[in-house]
Amino acid sequence: PAAFRRRLASYSTGDGGVAGGAADGKRLVGKVALITGGASGLGKATAHEFIQNGAQVIIADIDSELGPQTAQGLGPSAHYVRCDVTDESQVADAVDAAVARHGKLDIMYNNAGVTGPAYPPSIADLELDKFDEVMRINLRGAVAGIKHAARVMIPAGSGSILCTSSISGILAGLGPHPYTVSKFAIPGLVKSAAAELCRHGIRINCISPAPIPTPMSVGQIAQFYPGLTQEQVARIINGLGELKGAHCEDADVAKAALYLASDEAKYVTGHNLVVDGGFTCYKNLSF
Ligand code: NAD
Repeated sequence: PAAFRRRLASYSTGDGGVAGGAADGKRLVGKVALITGGASGLGKATAHEFIQNGAQVIIADIDSELGPQTAQGLGPSAHYVRCDVTDESQVADAVDAAVARHGKLDIMYNNAGVTGPAYPPSIADLELDKFDEVMRINLRGAVAGIKHAARVMIPAGSGSILCTSSISGILAGLGPHPYTVSKFAIPGLVKSAAAELCRHGIRINCISPAPIPTPMSVGQIAQFYPGLTQEQVARIINGLGELKGAHCEDADVAKAALYLASDEAKYVTGHNLVVDGGFTCYKNLSF
């Protein structure tokens, strides 16, 4: 019990914890966060949420047009660095850029991801090079992010790392094989890292969202419905995750990320937070 008490104490950074939240309700005041794939979709929504809660955010994204635009739109607390997560040295540089700019890294969100080629539907026709491409971004990119976040968080003795899995990491057949495999792997990666990093006061968790219309999901689903507008495709995606008229929104993921990143989750590690309105709780999917 004494060892557990010590570990519990080590998780809290003491500024903005459960008992001592900022008076204005902001939950990440003074924190520095790096978000891969932060130029668009769920990463961008999470960057917005983190900034609203007082954080400084580094947007690390391969898209060197959209990235700076997104950072500019988010205001002076956001800064863009170009980063291709398949290149370990660029991930290392992005982490170092965050530390150089802000003196530390408190939160690392390994969120960059792609669906990859929509199909072939049969694994018998799968091109293994395409499989490798998706794994290099979705899985190896997350491993690189964890590795380099740990490099700076271990000496600091604290930190919160997040990764994005998916309901495609819980139920098979929702996406192409490489995507499904990469997303099933994320909770395993998170548990493996959590088992070690808990000794250093570092927590690591993942989030598994339901379908949300973003450039990635719209691009994927549009391949099956040629001729539909983006709005029509977005309605189809919303319909997949609909529950009693509600559907998953990027803000739902951002709020989940805020909780896991904050000291309110100071004793939560190795967890997969499913944000799906019940999607994976029942068997009879409508498609
Ligand atoms: P998105 O396309 O809006 O954003 C993905 C971002 O990742 C883009 O800005 C893109 O430039 C960036 N990116 C792609 N490859 C990269 C690389 N090699 N290095 C750095 N950045 C790279 O898509 P999104 O829906 O916001 O996806 C974010 C994450 O959420 C992904 O991991 C995805 O698998 C996951 N997810 C999405 C949904 C959904 O329905 N949208 C559901 C569950 C999980």
